[in-house]
Amino acid sequence: MKRKILLNPGPATTTENVKNAMVVEDICPREGEFGQVMHDICDGLLKIGNGQDKYKVGLFGASGTGAMEAVLSSAIGNEDKVLIITNGAYGFRMAKICDKFGIAFDTEFQFGDYPEVGVIADKLETSTYSHLIMIHHETSTGMMNPLDEVAELCNSKGVKLILDAMSTFGACPIDLSAHKIDYLISSSNKGIHGMAGLSYVIFHEDCMPELQANARGFYFDLYAQWKNLQDKNQLRFTPPVQVCYAFKAAIDETLEETVAKRWERYTGNWQLLYDGLQDMGFDFFLPLEQQSRILLAINLNNKSLNFEEFHDFLYARDVTIYPGVIPESATFRVSVIGDLYKEDIEYALTQMREYFQKS
Ligand SMILES: *Cc1c(COP(=O)(O)O)cnc(C)c1O
Repeated sequence: MKRKILLNPGPATTTENVKNAMVVEDICPREGEFGQVMHDICDGLLKIGNGQDKYKVGLFGASGTGAMEAVLSSAIGNEDKVLIITNGAYGFRMAKICDKFGIAFDTEFQFGDYPEVGVIADKLETSTYSHLIMIHHETSTGMMNPLDEVAELCNSKGVKLILDAMSTFGACPIDLSAHKIDYLISSSNKGIHGMAGLSYVIFHEDCMPELQANARGFYFDLYAQWKNLQDKNQLRFTPPVQVCYAFKAAIDETLEETVAKRWERYTGNWQLLYDGLQDMGFDFFLPLEQQSRILLAINLNNKSLNFEEFHDFLYARDVTIYPGVIPESATFRVSVIGDLYKEDIEYALTQMREYFQKS
């Protein structure tokens, strides 16, 4: 199979091994043998996040947004109020989900703002919030939000932290136990390099009472989903069977590479892209000190560049780049999520240079 270099932020470039893991004998997912695969996935995820002691996993057949909806519709009670850090597209998506469920919430920050911890602390003083929602890495802008400080703040105030770690879990080290993260959301096809189709919520065991009391949904009932796997050794509803096998293989690869080494690889690849694009005359939406090292949002407005044409040129050469989503700023994005190495990034940069030499 031809190797494709996906610079979109997931679904990512996967290994041959992960692709091949999907070709398996047919099996009914209610068989015990398959239940074991589900348990292996949950155990592997807890290992990746250092949560074996006090954390549980709810797995869903859904894209990442499904797991966002699962937490919000399962954890938050009628008397609760949520503070959402909205400094990018995914923060605003959280607000939209809360709105749909009639969950009381406030938002703080605008698209592209750096979420100053002092501002969040003041906000927590002025109102009583039960939960705070933060996107760890805003995949819309490439900003890494300050997890250490915000987790500490939430713990000191007794506010539960819901962390969307969609594009960071498996990509960079996250310690659930050290940060005492209450809920962590991610999916199969980003930092863990599996196939799209599974998402999950890792939650602290202390969250069990609110989950049992507050579920507003049926399919996305987080407690029921976790409990069913414990009691019956199967998910409540049909999972994407082959995607599960691939995910298990991808988790094993993640543990084998180690998250620390994967993060080194990502940051090295990111630096190559940053330097290469800068050499081509591009500048970036965020200042260097706010960059995640996972994704770059690149300004289009300083170049008379036709993005569609640029995209199609690269796509024909097996390199996929991604459009931007920042309101009122013309950007495009490249990400280093996936089974990508220095040679792949250099190949992509060479193709980009060729485009500019031609045009
Ligand atoms: C990818 C992503 C999501 C979920 O996207 P889906 O298309 O539903 O998988 C949510 N939050 C962040 C930060 C993401 O990067």
